[in-house]
Amino acid sequence: MDLAYTEAEEEFRGRLREWLAGVLPSLPPKPSPDDWPARRAYDTTWQRMLYDAGYAGLHWPEDAGGRGATPTQHLIFLEETERAGAPYVGANFVGLLHAGPTVAAEGTAEQRARWLPPVLRGDEIWCQGFSEPDAGSDLAALRTRAVRDGDDYVVSGSKIWTSHAEVADWCELLVRTDPEAPKHRGISWLAMPMDAPGITVRPLRTLAGSTEFAEVFLDEVRVPVRNRVGAENDGWRVTMVTLSFERGTAFVGEVVACRRTLEALAAEARRNGRWDDPVLRRRLGRLNAEFRALWRLTQANVSESERTGGVPGIGGSVFKLRYSGVRQDLYEAAAEVLGGVDAFDLDREWTLDRLSSLSYTIAAGTSQIQRNIVAERILGLPKGR
Ligand SMILES: Cc1cc2nc3c(=O)[nH]c(=O)nc-3n(C[C@H](O)[C@H](O)[C@H](O)COP(=O)(O)OP(=O)(O)OC[C@H]3O[C@@H](n4cnc5c(N)ncnc54)[C@H](O)[C@@H]3O)c2cc1C
Repeated sequence: MDLAYTEAEEEFRGRLREWLAGVLPSLPPKPSPDDWPARRAYDTTWQRMLYDAGYAGLHWPEDAGGRGATPTQHLIFLEETERAGAPYVGANFVGLLHAGPTVAAEGTAEQRARWLPPVLRGDEIWCQGFSEPDAGSDLAALRTRAVRDGDDYVVSGSKIWTSHAEVADWCELLVRTDPEAPKHRGISWLAMPMDAPGITVRPLRTLAGSTEFAEVFLDEVRVPVRNRVGAENDGWRVTMVTLSFERGTAFVGEVVACRRTLEALAAEARRNGRWDDPVLRRRLGRLNAEFRALWRLTQANVSESERTGGVPGIGGSVFKLRYSGVRQDLYEAAAEVLGGVDAFDLDREWTLDRLSSLSYTIAAGTSQIQRNIVAERILGLPKGR
C-alpha cells in the first residue's frame, strides 16, 4: 500500500471534513450510558445521516449496498470522523462491523438484500449470540440446539455476554445442528429475529454499573431455515469469517480515538505539571510509538484484506492482541496524568473508559487465545495439549 495520500484522496478528505463541520452541530447531546433506547436512537440517527450523505458502508462492496470505496478512503473516513468528534458505530457495532460484513461475504443475494440495507440505513441493529456459559474460549463446545421442523429450526439453549441484546432486532446466532458430528462440524450460523416468541433477555451489569450485555435464554424459538447463512453444519467456517472481521477490522476506528486521547493526555500533563516527570514522559512516548505502529499495522491488514477478497486475514489476531493491551496501558497512564493511579470516580468519563479497557483483553477472544492462534497459525509452533 502506498502510505502517501493522492490528490483524489485528499479531495475526498476535504469534502468529508466540510460535511462533518456542517452536520455535527445539529446532533442532539449524547444520551446517558444506561438509557439504551435513547442510545439506540442516537446511534441510528447518526447512521441515517451517514447513509443519506453517501458515507454508510463506505468500504462495503457495491453489490452489498456499500460504496465500494478503497481501503485508504475508509481509513481517511475513520481519521476524519474521529478528528471531528463524530459518533462511532455505538449500538450498531455488530451489524456494521461483523454480522453485516459476514452476510456480505457469505450470504445469498436474497439474504444480502434483506439484511444489509436496514443495517446501513440504521433501521435495524444486531447482536451476537456466540458465547455460552460453558463455551467462551472453546466456542465450538457450544450446546444451544437447533432441531429442524419443516421450514424452521426450533432453537433451545442459552447465550451469555450478548452485547446490546436489549435493543437488537437481529442476533447472529451459533447453534448445534448435528450433535453427533465432531464439535467443529455440527454448527450452523443463523440470523434470529429478536422479537421471536421464546426469547428472554436478562441484562447483566458490568463493574462500571452499566448493562452493556445480557444473558439470552432461548426456549423453542422458531427460526426459519432460510435465515441460515452458509450450509447446515458449515457454521464454524462462517464463524471464522465473522471473527476475522471482529478481530481484524472492528477495532481499527478506535486506534484513531486512542491517538487523540493520548494527545489530550500529553496536553493535560503539560498543563498540570506532571510532564516534568521523565518516567511519565517516556511512558507517553512509548504509547505514541505503539499507536503509530498499530495504525501502520491496520493499514497493512486492511490493504491485505483488499487483496484477498475483503475478508481480513490472521493478522487481525496480532492486531487485537497488541491493541487490547496497549489500550489498557493508555488508561493506566490516563489515571496517572489525571488524578493519580488510585483515583477512582465513576462520574468521570476516563474512569469508565479505564474500567471498560479491562474488557478488551477478554472480548472477541481473550489474549491467551490470540497468542495460541499467533503461535500455531502464524509462527507454525506445535499445538498445545
Ligand atoms: C465486554 C464484553 C463483551 C462481549 N460481548 C459478547 C457478545 O456480544 N457476544 C458473545 O457471544 N460474546 C461476547 N463476549 C464474550 C467473550 O467472547 C468471552 O468472554 C471470551 O471469548 C472468553 O470466554 P469466557 O468468558 O467463557 O472465558 P473462558 O473461556 O472460561 O476463559 C477463562 C480464562 O481461561 C483462559 N483460557 C481458556 N482456554 C485457554 C487455552 N486453550 N489456552 C490458554 N488460556 C485459556 C482464558 O484466556 C481466560 O483467561 C463479550 C465479552 C466481553 C468482556
